[in-house]
Amino acid sequence: MIMVMDSKVRAITRSDVVTIDEDSTVEEAAKLMGSKGIGALAVTRNGRIVGIITERDVLKRVVAEGRDPKLTKVRDVMTSPPITVGPDTTIREAIDLMNRRRIRRLLVEEEGRIVGIFTQRDILALTRICLYCVKEVSLLAPTDDGEPLIVCGCGAIYHKSCATTVVYCLDCSTRLIEVIRAPAPEDTLAGD
Ligand SMILES: [Zn+2]
Ligand SMILES: [Zn+2]
Repeated sequence: MIMVMDSKVRAITRSDVVTIDEDSTVEEAAKLMGSKGIGALAVTRNGRIVGIITERDVLKRVVAEGRDPKLTKVRDVMTSPPITVGPDTTIREAIDLMNRRRIRRLLVEEEGRIVGIFTQRDILALTRICLYCVKEVSLLAPTDDGEPLIVCGCGAIYHKSCATTVVYCLDCSTRLIEVIRAPAPEDTLAGD
């Protein structure tokens, strides 16, 4: 049932890793994170990724300590080497590592190269609960239990059969299914 935990990190890795050179200032890093709407940058030295700097690093190691972001270099506050996992690590192992190291994102390394990044939020987004039957629904393997899904405009998710039962979204009262069609006899197991 809980397939997500046994899935590989590869399935949630995003390859759009944004980088910054280690000689850049923390102010430049903060601006880049802001303009891209992300919470971390991979840090490069001669074009090779050697570390990671996060929003939290900027707050804890620069702002909270009264250092000037214009004068502080990224290399002075980054975490280096970065904590990485391989693409074939399971999500269960990745969560365990994040918890132990108290970090919220991991870089993915394959054959000595950083190939991507993912965050705790990417993992959480994989697992949803059907609002009617309260069973876990894996978005990685939605047909896991052979059940098609219906996603309401409000984001609530239902098994199709559950949506047929409630008809109106339990969360926002939107009608989930416009026409409830009685299944054709050949679509059912009835009549054996
Ligand atoms: Zn359900
Ligand atoms: Zn809804």
